[in-house]
Amino acid sequence: MRITEVRTFLVSGGTPERASWRHWLFVKLHTDAGLYGVGECWGWPRVVQTAIADLTPLVVGEDPFLIERIWQKLYASTQGHGMTGVVGSGAVTGIELALWDLKGKALGTPVWNLLGGKMRDRIRLYGHAFDDGRARELADRGFTAMKLFGWRDAVSRVRKLRGEFGPDIDLMVDAGGGPWQTPADAISLGRRLERYGLLFYEDPVSALDAGGLARVAQAVDLPIAIGEAYPGMFALRPLIERGVIDVAQPDTGRFGGLWQMKKLAAIAEAHQVMVAPHQGSLGPVAEMAAIHLLATLPNYLIHEYLVNDVPQRYEVMTGQPAIEDGHILVPDRPGLGVDLDEEAIARYPPRGNAIPVDADPDYDYQYVAAHRRRAAWLAG
Ligand SMILES: [Mg+2]
Repeated sequence: MRITEVRTFLVSGGTPERASWRHWLFVKLHTDAGLYGVGECWGWPRVVQTAIADLTPLVVGEDPFLIERIWQKLYASTQGHGMTGVVGSGAVTGIELALWDLKGKALGTPVWNLLGGKMRDRIRLYGHAFDDGRARELADRGFTAMKLFGWRDAVSRVRKLRGEFGPDIDLMVDAGGGPWQTPADAISLGRRLERYGLLFYEDPVSALDAGGLARVAQAVDLPIAIGEAYPGMFALRPLIERGVIDVAQPDTGRFGGLWQMKKLAAIAEAHQVMVAPHQGSLGPVAEMAAIHLLATLPNYLIHEYLVNDVPQRYEVMTGQPAIEDGHILVPDRPGLGVDLDEEAIARYPPRGNAIPVDADPDYDYQYVAAHRRRAAWLAG
């Protein structure tokens, strides 16, 4: 069997009102045997789409079963461009996920069976508690873990949710990792969150500030989570080796593929670090790939899930597994167990490609010290 064609589909993953910048980039890999595999990737989707077009001649003609060989070939071919970040690793990711799907279909077995075999039949999920009503809705639906975003009122909101739900709900705070976050502020916020026993404290400083992250990790008694911005295991490895993080959050759409994530998980396992993949912007295919991987990991913690997301999430892909009691069921069908619906995809053409910056002058895209009265902020 040989690869004959690589097709990509750039799809709007948002709505005009909500996250209009968000796109999903799906990949379909065809072969001369009539079989095809589906994948998905992210990074900067329209740019990643072009990168995949550039890489396609290196993939056509290859035996799709030779996943590691193809991965190394693609990876090596990007090196001449310097550090391509999530664009390069995103492009490799989309092709790699499709290779696993194809191999599973060809062998008649689910991808989790190719990744070491599953340890569990369902994966615990967490939702996003954008506001108190949303938090209640998640709890009512059986979710036992939820995440809050941003710095503003983070402590008072966590205090309120902990008071409402008690210790049975796991809470997380995602500080966003903006370059406007200083280690000193991240330490202040983290220390005030300590008493609420978070499952993790995510992106307290920028992913580019390894030294600052080390300062936060040393000063704050909370598990530190980071990883969504990193293009592969070589980028995330130093933080694990330095003992700076407790939870690794590779993004399934741009980390380099399932095998790359499996390797990262092994490095993490050897350092008592847990794995909780990022799923903040991805579509349903990458999400399913993450479920197959997490089914096989001893050091899996939890998976991010976009509850009640945009309607097209449930239209562009067939084979959505059921969600029960805040868990997603691990599929047993061959490959990833899902397929693309190209007619549905055509109904959601791509729109703009840049992520807008909020116009609110008091928004957290500013250094906390510059727009808060510090004593009041620390007291809140
Ligand atoms: Mg995040």
